[in-house]
Amino acid sequence: MSQQFIIALSKGRIFNETLPLLAHAGIKPADDPETSRKLILDTNRGDTKLLILRAADVPTYVQYGAADVGVAGKDVLMEHGGEGLYEPVDLRIAKCRLMVAGRAGDINQPQAGVTGRRLRVATKYINSARRYYASKGEQVELIKLYGSMELAPLVGLADRIVDVVDTGNTLKANGLAPLEHIADISSRLIVNKASMKMKHEKVKTFISDIMDAVSRGG
Ligand code: AMP
Repeated sequence: MSQQFIIALSKGRIFNETLPLLAHAGIKPADDPETSRKLILDTNRGDTKLLILRAADVPTYVQYGAADVGVAGKDVLMEHGGEGLYEPVDLRIAKCRLMVAGRAGDINQPQAGVTGRRLRVATKYINSARRYYASKGEQVELIKLYGSMELAPLVGLADRIVDVVDTGNTLKANGLAPLEHIADISSRLIVNKASMKMKHEKVKTFISDIMDAVSRGG
């Protein structure tokens, strides 16, 4: 039996923007994850399957070898830490920026926490936020949230949020503004380190097909 090749992806933007790259590598899913409830999708290639995961879980599946390769945002990889993974290709898709944001009126008061206490920063990106403020030598209180970060400054839970920003429309609609740029984000191809050795031909061919697709602009 030929070796299996397992690709981990998340639904939505990453899946949609990865499809043309996979097509260039000769891989077409048999189902659409938006309409199918299957978590393992067959493809036109008997040896290749797609796992449909929460975005934040993609690096973990690849790290432990449950998937050979995956596509994950740099924001997710920075938070995961990248252990057990190679990150050979910047796919240049799902681009956005990791930013500090706060109330629009605070724009000229970068340290505008209530006097005497540390700035409170709410985020799901706890590790990235911790690294960012440590690099600035600023002591802040980090509050872990799982979503709707924009709400936190509006109800006094936090002075700032750290979140990914694309158009900035979500911030604006909630009276918030981007204040500090932390990192440019795009999706990356990640590869399990053991798969790179054990399935070398398959993985190498896949990486080179994907690189070729990226350099042709999809
Ligand atoms: P925006 O276009 O700035 O209003 O983005 C809307 C929301 O979509 C943001 O708050 C993010 O949570 C999310 N978002 C936008 N772009 C990305 C991306 N490339 N990866 C992950 N989440 C994103």
